[in-house]
Amino acid sequence: MKNKTALLKVSNITKSFPIPSSFFSAKKQTFQALDDISFELFEGECLGLVGESGCGKSTLAKVLVHLEEATSGKIVFKETDITHIEKNKLKSVRAEIQMIFQDPFSSLNPRQSIAKTIQEGLDIHAIGTKAWRKEHVRNLLQKVGLESDLVSKFPHQFSGGQRQRIAIARAIATSPKLIICDECVSALDVSIQAQILALLKDLQIENNLSYLFISHNIAVVQYMCDRILVMSAGRILEILPSANLQENAKHPYTKELLKAVLSPEFKQENDTLKKESVDKELRNTNGIIDTGEMLASNETITTGKTTNIASVKDKEIALNISGETAGSLKENAGLQEKKTENEKKEQAYTMTNSFACPFYPRCPQALAICETHVPDGKNFQLGHGMQTVFCHLYD
Ligand code: SF4
Repeated sequence: MKNKTALLKVSNITKSFPIPSSFFSAKKQTFQALDDISFELFEGECLGLVGESGCGKSTLAKVLVHLEEATSGKIVFKETDITHIEKNKLKSVRAEIQMIFQDPFSSLNPRQSIAKTIQEGLDIHAIGTKAWRKEHVRNLLQKVGLESDLVSKFPHQFSGGQRQRIAIARAIATSPKLIICDECVSALDVSIQAQILALLKDLQIENNLSYLFISHNIAVVQYMCDRILVMSAGRILEILPSANLQENAKHPYTKELLKAVLSPEFKQENDTLKKESVDKELRNTNGIIDTGEMLASNETITTGKTTNIASVKDKEIALNISGETAGSLKENAGLQEKKTENEKKEQAYTMTNSFACPFYPRCPQALAICETHVPDGKNFQLGHGMQTVFCHLYD
């Protein structure tokens, strides 16, 4: 990233949702999904947004593209305040800020041909002539690694990875400046994830794109991004460059996320298993799946047993799953349940204690002040970059 011009400036954004009041309580309650979110995204930058499910990542994405209205705060895009932009002006902003969604199966209209799907944005924004649009769609398909003569096919005729390529072609059709990738590889098979990430990187360089790359997987974010925002319970906890992340991470929550990354031995073992699985699938598949991709699947064959790879999200599972006994799988399910319970407790705690550090209920280093005061951001110079940490340990 050479340019340091801010493309997007987000200042003190909050978003709260009303909680339906019960028959016995007349008091109106709200759930604070986003609390005082501020950051900048520079031109040509890939900015990662990482945090566990339910922390507010997708709500923030929706607020940025006006699928949800911010409760308070300010959003400036290309030096224009778009926080409460009028509907007629929103159209042009939408051409410049595009989104790629998590699920390539539901994000494409099953009744629309690929040509129509990709061309839709060009039609809405009246970009180019009819003949140019047709040609542009064919070029876009080639750009994302698909044959241009597939334009007349329908989404169900493609694999998961191919559908995500089509979604990418649709996103870049209007030549946007910023693309928000919301968990865009999470639903894909591991081997296909790498191909899609490589494609996104190539397109970023080729088209000088900026990405807000949202994921629960800090390893993927570290690979893709220049800087990383770490988020929990609707708040930003740390902002730091992705280089040397393991050494530089300061916030206890970021450190916990890093500990949860799969061990290299596990990854290697899994890669071999996935390769066997892909080979097996390709041997059994005829027709359109001929680019080394298989239909997106959560399952892979492992030494006579079936393991749900999509559920391997945290350290506990990663460390225990290599044992592969019925007992360990049961144990893993228990750990997953326990983790979800902890997350629920933390969310409930944060809802009723908006003055506490959001990580307080789970923090191994918590201090007395953490329960009563939300920490301010402290800045640290890190090489040519800046690191901001929201933690009382650095007061
Ligand atoms: S502010 Fe306190 S509770 Fe929060 S992460 Fe830092 S030490 Fe832990």
